[in-house]
Amino acid sequence: MFKVGFNLPEKVVQEEQLQQKKKKNQQQNVEKLTGNELQKMMEELRKDETQKTKRDRKKTKKSKETTENPENAEAKVPLDETKLKATRQKEPKSEPTTALKRKAEEPEHSSKKLTPLQLKMQQKLSGARFRWINEQLYTSCSERAFDIFQKQPEVFKEYHDGFRHQVEQWPENPVSNFVDQFKDRLIKPLNAPGGIPGDKAGNKVVVADMGCGEAELALKLSEKNFSRRKTQFEVHSFDMNKANERITVADIKNVPLPDESCHVVVFCLALMGTNLADFINEGIRILKPNGLVWIAEIKSRFEGNDYATFVNNLKNMGLYHRTTDDSNKMFVKFEFVKLSHKLANARNKNPEIMLKPCIYKRR
Ligand code: SAH
Repeated sequence: MFKVGFNLPEKVVQEEQLQQKKKKNQQQNVEKLTGNELQKMMEELRKDETQKTKRDRKKTKKSKETTENPENAEAKVPLDETKLKATRQKEPKSEPTTALKRKAEEPEHSSKKLTPLQLKMQQKLSGARFRWINEQLYTSCSERAFDIFQKQPEVFKEYHDGFRHQVEQWPENPVSNFVDQFKDRLIKPLNAPGGIPGDKAGNKVVVADMGCGEAELALKLSEKNFSRRKTQFEVHSFDMNKANERITVADIKNVPLPDESCHVVVFCLALMGTNLADFINEGIRILKPNGLVWIAEIKSRFEGNDYATFVNNLKNMGLYHRTTDDSNKMFVKFEFVKLSHKLANARNKNPEIMLKPCIYKRR
């Protein structure tokens, strides 16, 4: 009996160590995993934790029996204090006795509540999955990406949660930069040189936000008193899934807008598919002559910071290049103007435009 009193904790400690080693290995390997493997791993982890809860429950029951049953009186003999200390140190800190008791009393399904370790693992999984989805978007044509997001809206949500997390780390968000551009330039009247093109009679500007994410641009431009001139904005926000009511679901290679209906077309970090030339073509189609194309992209997408090749391709597609602004540390911005009909007719509609995928670092 006395022996049992000592052996039980040591066995438990060994098992704890084994479990911790297993989890550490899983944690190190998670970064290399993708897709379904990640999902399987999360399920395995859950199973592990459920089994652990069951074991803990048995342990609690056993120790309760041991201390409460007078037949086990010897078990009440105090353990050697140094051994006790060692055992205490080896016990997982995240499982204080009260939490353990509460767990033992809770029904089975509550094991889905995540422990700190599971939470950490889940964050790693989300990070890994975000990078995986991101890579798919940059290395597939838009039809495939569109299909994935239509069939699995949860993948889209995962991507956007990850993207939001990335944006929070950036010193500047390019969407805000475009919002400022509108504000600054609206000091001038519509269609004035250096201003914003628009419908002067109606004091209105029509904007298409291609690959809008959460349609923040539409939200900001619709704010009361956005422009001192009380210019009205009609913003069409397109993305592959409807994160909110402002968004119209569409593949940006084919959006539901008539020809020559917009004054400004924005691509903010949205040139993601391998068929990105289709997106530019679509932008040109819906743009009025003298309308603006605004593009922001991550600098690392341009091999050796070669912006000129990209610019030349867009010039050949019928756009006049106005500015390249690479003053920001992370982003480069371009402004193009749609040429008049005559010039635009001579354009090359199918140039090979290649940009490197944007690979986000591990968190
Ligand atoms: N412009 C937003 C979001 C950038 S993330 C911002 O800067 O905050 C890129 C967005 O483009 C994603 O929401 C992605 O779903 C969208 N996107 C990429 N390819 C697309 C396509 N072919 N059609 C519609 N949206 C697309």
